[in-house]
Amino acid sequence: MTYNDGFHFLQIPGPSNIPGEVLRAIEKPTIDHRGTDFGMFTRELLEKTKKIFQTDSPIIIFPASGTGAWEAALVNTLSPGDKTLMFETGHFASLWNDLAIKLGIKTEFIEGDWRHGISSDKLQERLSADRKKEIKAVCCIHNETSTGIVSNIEDIRKAIDSENHPALLLVDTISSLGSIDYRHQDWGVDVTIACSQKGLMLPPGLSFNAISEKALLASKKAKSARSYWDWEPMLKNNIEGFFPYTPATNLLFGLDVACDMLLSEGLDSVFIRHARFGEATRQAVQAWGLETVCMEPSQHSNVLTGVFVPENHDADHVRKIILERFNMSLGTGLGKLKGKVFRIGHLGHFNDLMLIGSLGGVEMGFELADIPHQKGGVSRAMNYLISTATQ
Ligand SMILES: *Cc1c(COP(=O)(O)O)cnc(C)c1O
Repeated sequence: MTYNDGFHFLQIPGPSNIPGEVLRAIEKPTIDHRGTDFGMFTRELLEKTKKIFQTDSPIIIFPASGTGAWEAALVNTLSPGDKTLMFETGHFASLWNDLAIKLGIKTEFIEGDWRHGISSDKLQERLSADRKKEIKAVCCIHNETSTGIVSNIEDIRKAIDSENHPALLLVDTISSLGSIDYRHQDWGVDVTIACSQKGLMLPPGLSFNAISEKALLASKKAKSARSYWDWEPMLKNNIEGFFPYTPATNLLFGLDVACDMLLSEGLDSVFIRHARFGEATRQAVQAWGLETVCMEPSQHSNVLTGVFVPENHDADHVRKIILERFNMSLGTGLGKLKGKVFRIGHLGHFNDLMLIGSLGGVEMGFELADIPHQKGGVSRAMNYLISTATQ
């Protein structure tokens, strides 16, 4: 028997829950994307979007999933044969590395254990050994969504600067933007990669590149073949609020409202809200006597929590029971974590009670799936939320 009354709990770390305000904005009739009204609308929207990236630099919006923005960042700044450093933080880092290889880029994939963020010391060592300055870009995932681990982009920038290395810094913020603090400009990032369906609370279908002056200069020399992803015609058309091809008009209506929601809550408050969800979830995991994927306390993600089930138990079996019995979707283990890990998404359009509901579903699911655990995770999370509630 399945129970489908009430809301479906979509607790995967993207696509995330969409606010009614955003859905209603998307529902508006489509307008002429070459008309004056649309041009005015997008010019304002592009300015507003910059605030979310915390930058004054241009933002390019493609009608694509996040993978498109990965490709766009690479083909606009690099040439086939260029060397880059990438870091094996988890499944998404591996996918980006594979994509770069297909484009003819010579990636050096620095091995990782999927339980730690990027080591800026290792990066610095590698850059200092690059005497001929052959490395053209350092490519990082800010929030590795397969594990729930955040890398410190400020430290990575410092490591590049202290070696006086000219490499570009490319950062994937697909699952962090709008949920945890990220500063394109202050942190000296050259290309920020993002998309719509995670912290921005939109359906899938928009992807972003925020571009530094240095990245723009690199794009004039980069020889990778590109057409759909080419920044140049985008930037040219964007001046008047237009696009070289049909943009995802209705998703842009949604983006406008989503930005308003984030900015009226205030980015700082948004980040604090997510920090409380992250900590409450980790306390629940600890009370259950289970282990998070992240091993380094300073690198825990506030967007999602990756949780190991005890050995000889199947994380996907628990997920299945929770979906069928409680109508909640949790994230599956990706790549080599398949079956060992499930992921609780706590991002976007989300509040304290939704978190308690989600954790309640997990705790009940453990009981039904005979997962060895201690009770009391939910009440630990409730206590934490109470102790940090502001009136
Ligand atoms: C979701 C995700 C992607 C892939 O985005 P798609 O929209 O599925 O193409 C890439 N990187 C990270 C960190 C992600 O979380």
